[in-house]
This record gives sequence, C-alpha cells and structure tokens, in this order.
Amino acid sequence: MDPDELRRALVERLIALRAARSPAVVRALSSVPRHLFLPEIPAELAYADRPIALVIEDGVTISSASQPSMIAEMLEQLGVRRGDRVLEIGTGSGYTAALLAHLCGTDGSVVTIELDPLLVERARRALRTAGFDRVRVLLGDGAGGVPDYAPFDRIILTVAADDILEPWRTQLVSGGRLVLPLTLRALQESIAFEGSDPLYSVSIVGASFVTLRGARAVAPHEVDLESTPGIRLRVGDPARLDVAALSQYLKAEPAFVELGEIQIDDLWSGLDVWLDAHLEDAGVATAIGGGTAACVDEWLSVVDDEPRYATTFVLCRESAIGFFVRNRRRVGIASYGDAAGLIDRARAAIARWIERGKPPNSVLKVSAHARTSPPPVDALITKPSVTLALRWTRR
Ligand code: SAH
Repeated sequence: MDPDELRRALVERLIALRAARSPAVVRALSSVPRHLFLPEIPAELAYADRPIALVIEDGVTISSASQPSMIAEMLEQLGVRRGDRVLEIGTGSGYTAALLAHLCGTDGSVVTIELDPLLVERARRALRTAGFDRVRVLLGDGAGGVPDYAPFDRIILTVAADDILEPWRTQLVSGGRLVLPLTLRALQESIAFEGSDPLYSVSIVGASFVTLRGARAVAPHEVDLESTPGIRLRVGDPARLDVAALSQYLKAEPAFVELGEIQIDDLWSGLDVWLDAHLEDAGVATAIGGGTAACVDEWLSVVDDEPRYATTFVLCRESAIGFFVRNRRRVGIASYGDAAGLIDRARAAIARWIERGKPPNSVLKVSAHARTSPPPVDALITKPSVTLALRWTRR
C-alpha cells in the first residue's frame, strides 16, 4: 500500500485516540515519512501504532522506534514552538528528531544525542533521506546533556530515566520545558516539567520506554516470568526482589479476593501510580507483552479465560499480589505466597484512594527538588539527584 495512504490512516487513528491534538503536531505527523526511518520493515508495519525494536541484547530491547501514539502524546506535552532550540536524548531511529525539526521549523534547531554509534549512522542516513539533514546527530551519553549547544528551550528524553540529572535542568532556559519518561518507584510516567529547582509538573501520561544506558545507566527493570511466557514484569528495583522465588510463587495457584469498589479503569487511570507511591517497601510492577494497546487487550482476554494472571502486580520478597479482572469488569486481588500483610497494606492504600475520591493521574502534581525542600505532600520518593514530591489535588 502507498506509504502516504498508510500515514494518513495512522494520523487519523492518533487523532481519534486523542494522542495528537494540536494542529502543529498533526501537521508534523502527517508530513514526516516514518517508513524512511524504518527501511527494513514493510511500510504497513512502520505505520502501525507500535514500537519497533531496533536493538535487542540478551532478550531485552535496548533501542526501539517509539510507538507513534506515545510520541504524539509527548510532543503535545513538549509544546515545541517555531524557532525553539530543542535537545532530544535518545535518537534511536531519528524519527522523533525529524518531527521535532518539523515543529521548530528552519528558524529553530534540533540537536539529538545517541549512545550507540551504529544508530547514530543509521539516524543520520535516514534524516538525510527524509530531507532533515539540518538535525544535528551527536554520538555520546545524554546524561550530561549537550553543554556545547545549551541552553535549550525544550529538552525531551525518549529513553526512561530513574532520576532527573542536573544538566537537564540547568541546560534549560528559564521558562523552558523538560519532558521525560521518569520511573517513580516502579512505574514510568512521561512528565512535562517547568521551572528549575523545584521543577514542577505541568502534565503526566503513562509511558513505556527502554531505560537509560551509559554513565547513569539504570539496570533493566524487567523480569522474565517462566510461568507466563512472553510476558515480562517491569519492576522498580530488581535488587529488592528475589526473582527466582517470585517466578516460583507466581506459578502456584493464587488465592482470590474480590474488590467491589474498584473498576477496571481505576487500575490504569490512577490507582497504579497511587500504589507505586504509597507502598514504599513493595514494588509495583506492570506486566508487559509488547507494549501496545492491542496487547493489553489480549492480555485482558487471557485474564478473562483464566483468572490466574494479572496486569498490575505488587511484589514483595516473599509474596505478591496482582490485580485481576473478570469478565472485563470485576476487579480483585490475586495473591501468591504468604501475602496477608501485603493485602492489608494494599487494601488500606486503596481505601485511602477511594476516600480521596479516586484521584486520577490527571490531578497528580509532581515537583522535583534538588536543593530546595519539598512541601508537605502525599508521598516523597528519593532519587540520587532530586526528591520527588507527589501530591494529588482535588478533581
Ligand atoms: N526517539 C527514538 C527512541 C529511541 S529508543 C525513536 O523513536 O526512534 C531510546 C534510545 O536511547 C536508544 O536508541 C538508546 O540507544 C538511546 N540511549 C540509551 N541511553 C542513552 C544515553 N545515556 N545517551 C544517549 N542515548 C541513549
């Protein structure tokens, strides 16, 4: 099929999903030929709303062309204006860099940095072919930002970080914006920040990115489960888990408790982040298949047929609980191992969430404090360079 046709269909889908909303982002997505950044695969696949793995090492994807709906969401968060100086960390295929160049126009500039020399070459080639050779592709570790071209009006990471490093804050102009997929305790959220110290969030959307490598690398936060082939768990700190024991007890028949007050949408729309923030000693993990909406659906139907698996897990060393969904509606807790204490703590956290009116992620405010002290909030998460303060405001 004609790539232009396929691109039109993709853009329509992204508009219908409300991932692409502003005329500028819609125009960029409509013009940049994504298939030229993915020449090895059929155009039909390049224009599917899916991430495409570029480099896989030991079964873990370490580079992928991001999913178009995720890119669209993040571009909306970033709010690039014509004339902006933009830095992207994590070039990958170069596709996002081309969209950024389209958004800032020829008066603006895009610098993108990538750790992998082969990917740098590949992205340069694709950008040239697509007519975006004005994008500067640098080889290096984005942990230090790019001081030579700083300051930037907009900085975007398309790779997940576990911390907010100082150069990303200080290489931003006053009034600039930083968008990054940030791991809270275990869950990744793409957060748009303004300010410097503190940075304060202006928007938050769920994300699923490969993790940062290099000097400030984060261990891959993914665990394979022998019991559920093809499904991996993304967890907070794998060092705090006994993975062997975990795969063992996840194999056993779980016990079930139904939670009358929780609906399926609650799991995605706010409860997962709430639990991630409030259950300090446990890690919330998300089961991931391929990272696509279709995959989530398939997963849910697996849950329907055999309510043995769950989509969101809370894990401790000796036990785990997972939220399961029956008939696509009824939600309950499946528990593995000696989970009585964990169930109690999770139920208490859920009760507080319900008392607060089930605050969705859209009312979550995150501030990041380097030298400033955080105000009183709902939860604090300490990272090496910043303390994250999470506050759920009223609906
Ligand atoms: N925007 C890209 C996404 C690429 S995936 C696209 O849509 O194609 C993220 C990329 O970040 C990977 O290619 C990975 O190699 C790169 N990366 C990981 N750690 C990095 C680091 N510290 N500095 C620069 N790039 C990094």
